Amino acid sequence: MDSENLYRQIILDHYSRPHNRVESVPDEYIELHGSNPSCGDELSLYVDYEGGKVHDIKFNGSGCAICCASTSVMTKELEGLSKEEVLTKVDNFEKLIKGEEADGDIFEDAIAFAGTSKFPARFKCAFLSWKTIEEFLEQSN
Ligand code: ZN
Repeated sequence: MDSENLYRQIILDHYSRPHNRVESVPDEYIELHGSNPSCGDELSLYVDYEGGKVHDIKFNGSGCAICCASTSVMTKELEGLSKEEVLTKVDNFEKLIKGEEADGDIFEDAIAFAGTSKFPARFKCAFLSWKTIEEFLEQSN
């Protein structure tokens, strides 16, 4: 399997069997919203953030395959990281999906979104959940 097919398979797996998707807001999680009107993606993110560390992320919402898969991947990539580590990873993910030079070694499944750089119209879909967390952390202690 070449990398393009492998990446496509990873994205489809996350879309059909999302990680950390929940039906209701977990107790004491911070609720965040992200939307991408150009595609119709609407997300709620639930974050367990305390002591400068993202302990856990869950989500709910509706959106296209790229958006939902990217959110599922994001919840796994960022859990357990400090605020600084999250911001570094989000920054590299943004570069990755823009086709800019990024530190790909820090990613697990998120590397599958490298191909998004060929579809600039999908950038907002792939980046929505990552941007939502980034904006929250930039305003938090
Ligand atoms: Zn979308």
